[in-house]
Amino acid sequence: MIQKANFDFIEVITSVGPQVVNELEKIYGICLDLGVNNWRIMPIILYGRAALNKDNLSLSTKELKYVLDYIKEKRKTGKINVTLNEMWFCGPEYEFEVRNSGFFCQAGINILSILADGNVCGCPMLPYMSEGNIEKDDIMEMWERGFLKYRNIEWKKVGKCKNCESFDYCCGGEMHLWKPPYQEIEVCYNSLIKNQ
Ligand code: SF4
Ligand code: SF4
Repeated sequence: MIQKANFDFIEVITSVGPQVVNELEKIYGICLDLGVNNWRIMPIILYGRAALNKDNLSLSTKELKYVLDYIKEKRKTGKINVTLNEMWFCGPEYEFEVRNSGFFCQAGINILSILADGNVCGCPMLPYMSEGNIEKDDIMEMWERGFLKYRNIEWKKVGKCKNCESFDYCCGGEMHLWKPPYQEIEVCYNSLIKNQ
């Protein structure tokens, strides 16, 4: 069906938990057969219902490293453009080897999200960082004068990010890994991988 549709560009996104780690080569083969142009690999994000099942769905650091090595290798030798998704700052060993450009959390920089209740924030994963509500606030005003917490990120220089040599590259990581009272990033994949 996909081949008959004759699309100019086909992208497949695979969310990878422990159950899928050993299936990557099989999925790669399916993508090849389907004529996929880009295969985006996304280690599972423990949000929503996935957060209720962390024990079964979390990748161990070893598995995460395996996924990164797999992507790195496939980008050198494979026939499909394979990329890590836009999250997970994974440090100098991997960062420019596993995707086309370096990690960049775009929330509130070039992404604005309007949630179901009308609240406006920088990304659907950040309902607690609302800048106003579409029902009563002017959206251009919000975009042009607000979003300061998203754009002035000096506040992220706390905890393990405080003296980190990678801060200028990762800007304190994914915004969704910072929760009120914003004193520490929940997890730093760069540190996990380095210490593996
Ligand atoms: S907050 Fe997370 S999901 Fe949203 S843009 Fe940043 S990295 Fe991506
Ligand atoms: S400690 Fe913070 S600044 Fe350093 S790599 Fe991790 S998330 Fe980025």
